[in-house]
Amino acid sequence: MAEEYDHIVIGGGAAGCVAAARLVTDGGRRVLLLEAGYSNRHPLLDMPPGIFKLINGSKYMTYHSTVPQEHLGGRVHDVPQGNVLGGGTSVNAQVYMRGRPSDYDEWDALLRANNDGAPWDWPTVLAHFKRIEGNARLLDDLHGADGPLQVTDPGHVDDISRWFVQSVQARGEPFTADFNGPTQRGTGFYQFMNRNGRRSSSAYAYIEPLRRDPRLTVRLQARVRRIEIEKARATAVTWTDAAGATHTTRSRGDIVLTAGALVTPKLLMLSGIGPADQLQEHGIPVAVDAPGVGQNLVDHPEVPVIAVANGRYGYYRQGAGWRMLWNGIQFKTFGTGRILSVGFEAGAFINPIDPDAPPSIQAFCVPIVYLDRDLLQVFDDTWGVTITTVVVKPKSRGWVRLRSADPDDKPLVSPHLLKHPDDMATMIAGQRYFRDVLLTGPLGKRIERVIAPEGPDLSDEVMAAHCRRFVKTNYHPASTARMGADGDRMAVLDARLRVRGIENLRVADMSAVPNINAGNTAAPAMMLGDRATDFILGLDQPRASAAATSQGAQP
Ligand SMILES: Cc1cc2nc3c(=O)[nH]c(=O)nc-3n(C[C@H](O)[C@H](O)[C@H](O)COP(=O)(O)OP(=O)(O)OC[C@H]3O[C@@H](n4cnc5c(N)ncnc54)[C@H](O)[C@@H]3O)c2cc1C
Repeated sequence: MAEEYDHIVIGGGAAGCVAAARLVTDGGRRVLLLEAGYSNRHPLLDMPPGIFKLINGSKYMTYHSTVPQEHLGGRVHDVPQGNVLGGGTSVNAQVYMRGRPSDYDEWDALLRANNDGAPWDWPTVLAHFKRIEGNARLLDDLHGADGPLQVTDPGHVDDISRWFVQSVQARGEPFTADFNGPTQRGTGFYQFMNRNGRRSSSAYAYIEPLRRDPRLTVRLQARVRRIEIEKARATAVTWTDAAGATHTTRSRGDIVLTAGALVTPKLLMLSGIGPADQLQEHGIPVAVDAPGVGQNLVDHPEVPVIAVANGRYGYYRQGAGWRMLWNGIQFKTFGTGRILSVGFEAGAFINPIDPDAPPSIQAFCVPIVYLDRDLLQVFDDTWGVTITTVVVKPKSRGWVRLRSADPDDKPLVSPHLLKHPDDMATMIAGQRYFRDVLLTGPLGKRIERVIAPEGPDLSDEVMAAHCRRFVKTNYHPASTARMGADGDRMAVLDARLRVRGIENLRVADMSAVPNINAGNTAAPAMMLGDRATDFILGLDQPRASAAATSQGAQP
């Protein structure tokens, strides 16, 4: 008889690991988790600075590449995704951010219209964030200390990071001890998904404790090819194993699709759920004409400001030679040193155009001179600092489409970063602001010169050219199979994450969000996995009371 489970979860990433584990622990269900990537047990993945090696080319990453971006002069850039159990949470920079309450209240307002009203407002999602969170420092209305995801302060802070924070303060911004606190605005040090120098991924937090639980079956290097649909009901999943053998496994209850915002729309389309014209072009029978699948792609654009230091400051070449050896000895012997830091210790949320309006730019201070994979060699032999500036609420929208009907082909991806003129204007203002920070206060005293954008001509045209040359993803693709209210033609999902027009199928990763949150996206993805589980198990709470709504002020 064919193999059958209560649920199949497709993609063991940030969201998928949470959903699979909770269906087992809280629902007592038998679950099959199919993950295309590898085991997450590798020292390079555990170590915070390992991200710099990973970005540079690794089997633990899938490098999606964009189609030529006409507005960037035809440039293409990578959009990497974790190819490992834990997905993004096993390869990312570990920065723990949720965004701000208004992000979720906006989703709720959109979804509240004309549907059965599953809430997504801040008090509702906050309960999920708190349940997931095991914060080592904070326990209050906004934070949880008992959840499985270990959240902690950076284990090591470089002088450059401290000077950055002081220099942003010198420009008039407040210090914040918690970017996930009552106000997002200000400058300070990030918290990380990490404990004692070891990454806390969704795989470690949720799957590891169930390693010997017979109710959970995890298949690695298991690549899903399509979801089988019979009479508008998702019944089974077809996948290939590491040896290339093909299996079709049946699911009694909901199939949960969590393959990430670039692959989830691809799998929906390969299963006949998508824009009818696109499916027909590739000879795929249409199960549901869902024009929103693959549309509305949004991502956080990132552009660096780079300066050379006038002394030996920062993390120059820490990953090579005797410095690497010393860092390793220090870490192993005393549990201290630079290996405890991802490198992105300090940051800021500011609005460079109207300081009192909600922050429009997030910044990361990285005490090395670095650029992304396409361009990494350019300034790699220099002491200095890179401040990456990110537009947190971009208006640009792109798309994901099928390259072909072959599941082994990657999707076509066109994120349109900085295409919208308002995004470009915000980014230019952010670049000017942080270029000034590099020349201000304690940090300014240590800078020899800014090398990008170099100046002295900082006209809009020159700044825009710099942004077009260097813009890249902040690794947060989202919204490609979004929720929406009844009657919204582009809404792929209802407010309970169910695929419209198909029974037994939910999407619970970053594809599902109506708009991107202002900040990093791993914690929101995990929240989605948690919330999907509550929907499936009938544990979701009714709309929160007015009293609870007062928790968490606006930034
Ligand atoms: C380099 C990098 C740095 C980042 N830094 C941060 C950070 O510091 N803080 C933060 O909050 N966020 C960060 N992010 C973003 C964050 O990790 C992602 O937004 C988050 O992981 C998205 O979760 P998800 O569940 O939607 O998708 P993913 O985590 O990508 O999970 C999808 C999973 O599906 C699997 N999969 C794909 N195709 C198939 C298939 N056909 N069959 C089976 N499985 C499949 C993938 O291997 C993956 O494990 C970073 C991401 C990257 C890549």
